[in-house]
Parts: sequence; structure tokens; C-alpha cells
Amino acid sequence: MEPVRQLDPIGIMAGLPARKVLQSLMRTGQEARFVGGCVRDAVIGVEAEDVDIATPLPPDEVMRRLKADGLRVVPTGIKHGTVTAICEGVPFEITTLRRDVESYGRHAKVEFTDDWLEDARRRDFTFNALSLSAEGDLYDPFEGLSDLAAGRVVFVGDARERIREDVLRVLRYFRFHARFGKGPPDPDAIAACAEHARLLPTLSGERVREEILRLLANDRAVQVWRLMLERGIVPHLLPWATDVDRLAALDRLEWMVGEADIMARLAALLPPGDDAARAVAERLRLSNTQRDRLVLLADPPLAVTAELTQTQRRAALQKLGPEIYRDLLMLHAAGHGVPSVEILEPLAEAAAWRHIPFPLKGQDALDRGVPAGPEVGRLVGEVEDWWAARDFRPDRDACLAELDRRIGIVR
Ligand code: ATP
Ligand code: MG
Repeated sequence: MEPVRQLDPIGIMAGLPARKVLQSLMRTGQEARFVGGCVRDAVIGVEAEDVDIATPLPPDEVMRRLKADGLRVVPTGIKHGTVTAICEGVPFEITTLRRDVESYGRHAKVEFTDDWLEDARRRDFTFNALSLSAEGDLYDPFEGLSDLAAGRVVFVGDARERIREDVLRVLRYFRFHARFGKGPPDPDAIAACAEHARLLPTLSGERVREEILRLLANDRAVQVWRLMLERGIVPHLLPWATDVDRLAALDRLEWMVGEADIMARLAALLPPGDDAARAVAERLRLSNTQRDRLVLLADPPLAVTAELTQTQRRAALQKLGPEIYRDLLMLHAAGHGVPSVEILEPLAEAAAWRHIPFPLKGQDALDRGVPAGPEVGRLVGEVEDWWAARDFRPDRDACLAELDRRIGIVR
């Protein structure tokens, strides 16, 4: 494989750590290159999120060389040829060149090789098969540079075959189409994705989550989600996530008033109520924090709208916190065609909101003879709502009097 041109690797090597790792591996000529997404990003002048390095050296030799240079090395996936070097706190994945012997799903059987072209053939899209040496030699075995420039996401090899090997590539296709695509997508690639969409349920929640959240964060998420709906992909992926019009409305609002949380973008696609949110959280193996947030957004304990009075707004801010409040307000506006100007003021209020400490504690209920248990929280919570509904004006004595009243103590 001959380099197609020179590219200053400074984009990737700007941080000295990457250079150190590469140099540690390159005792004798060209034994390591940057590969995949980080090279693609360097070509377009974007700083990559993560830096992958490939090498013909076997993993034990990689470990030996890096350790000899005093780097911390973790054998993160040594069976598949991957070790992670940590240099000045930055992790680098270093993978021995591989070729597929047998392909079935994620755990394709691989063999180590010293052939860079074999390794490039296993990569998903032509612009993800680029590699770059420390000297700046850029290798482009499948004309990925011209596809990138033209905004075409092109599978390496036969699209159908590559999707059958790993159906995650369907989701990667749409994610990269959102990020790099210009103009309409290639009809044959889309057809290949649509034909294999029924295999999507075989993917693990973690892999689907990663792809979907990254796709939804993209500026072109609305267009691409619409395309995935039209092509019958979504029913196999997240059958609940169909309200693309509401996502479009939320997206427009975000341009006008600032960003909502990614969970709000996901919630926008769902029908109201907690059932769909819980099902989505389960399918995507969301963390408990993410799940709780999604459920709260899909099934809020109180309505947050632009029509609330100031006291109601402040009570809602106190109860929900400013971020959930912001997301609920934006979701409501998105679902009801409320223009952005009508939520600007409440949003500004939310951004400046500071939690107001409630003057009572659970101990106050215990001191009054309420037995330890859920009743304590319920009572104190009720008094807190009462206090918030009065714009937080009642002082500790007034709150205690209200607590007494609720317990039935007559003063
Ligand atoms: P991003 O910038 O979003 O991280 P990326 O292309 O770097 O995009 P990664 O998931 O970090 O994506 O993967 C790094 C590289 O590994 C890819 O560029 C590609 O060459 C290869 N790769 C990753 N996942 C697959 C896959 N499912 N099938 C084939 N090749 C893959
Ligand atoms: Mg990457």
C-alpha cells in the first residue's frame, strides 16, 4: 500500500502523549499508524474524540515496548489484540492488525496479520479505513478521501455482506450519514440497511445506546430519524420512538433558546406516559440516572408550561430542579407549538434558579411522635409543597405549625 499524500499529523499529535506512544512502538521503521476515525477527523481538521493506533506487532510485544518506556499499559482486549496505553492520563487503544477468518456478529474470529490492507478491509466505511504514519504518510486504500469530500458514506466491500457480519453497521451508517452526508443517501446502501433491519434486535443494549445517543445529538438527527422511520428501521430499533415532528420542534427551539439534555431529545420521540420510557430505558440499558430522567420527562409529576403563574413556576423549579424544569418546559412547548419567545423568560428564571433550603427536616416529624417510616417523608413533603405554594414565605415556626396541623396536634 502506497501513501496517497502527506498530512501533517499535528492534528492528532498536538498532544505530546500520542507522539510518545507511537514512537515507543516504532523502533524499526514503520510499525505503528493512527487508524480509523481519528485520521478521518484530522483530514477535516477536527480534533478526534479518541485516538486509535494499529500495529503489526503482536500484543505482547506492544505491551513490552510500552512498558519499557515507562507507560502504563492495560490489556483491555488482549485476545482480540487490543491493549490500552495510558500516557499523561490520556488513553490510547493499540490494536494489532487483524484479518477476519470467520465473521459472525461482533465476535468475528480474527487472526493477527502484518498486512495493513487486510486490516483496512475489516473497517466499516471507506473514510474510516484511512491510516496515517507519524511521518505524515496518509494511506487511503478505498478512496475514502473522495467519499468524505463528496459526503458519501460508502461501505468497504459489499454492503449486505458487511451488515450481515455486524448489524451495528446499520446504525453506524445512519450516524455517519448524519455527520458527514451531503445530499440524499446512496439508495443501495439504504436498501441494504432496510433489508437487514430485522436483525437489529440481536444487538446488545450498550452498543445500540452508544450509537443512538450519538446520532440524536447530531444537528441532522431529525432528518436522519425521519429517514429511518420512512425506511422501516425504527420499528426494529426503538418502536416507541416515532414522534419525529416533536423532535423537530424541540430541535428548532434548541436553536432559538439553547440546548436541552440528550434525554429530552430522546423523550421528544416518545408517546406520553412512563411505559414507553421504561421500555426504551430497558432496551438501551440506560443507567439508573438516565432512566429516571427519561421517565420523569415522559411522565412528569407536575405539568410545566409557559402558562404557569410565577409562584407555580418557582414551586416547580424548587421541586424538579432547573434542568428537568427547562427540559419539561421545552418539551411541552415543542409538543404544543408554543413559540420560543414565550418560554424565554421562564428559561432565564430557571438558569438563575438557586434551591431554597426548606426550614423543616424529617427529624421535626419524628420529634412530634410520627413513627419512623414513609409517613415521615410524606408529611414533610406535603408541608414543603404547602410552603412552596406560598412562594417560600412561611418561616420555620409557620411550617412547624402547618406540620402540627397535619399531624393533628392542636396548639
Ligand atoms: P467517532 O469519531 O464517532 O468515534 P470512529 O470512526 O472513530 O467515529 P469508533 O467507534 O471510535 O468510530 O471506531 C474506530 C474505528 O474502528 C472506525 O473508524 C472503524 O475503522 C472501526 N470500526 C469501529 N466499529 C466498527 C464496526 N462495527 N465495523 C467495522 N469497523 C468498525
Ligand atoms: Mg473514534
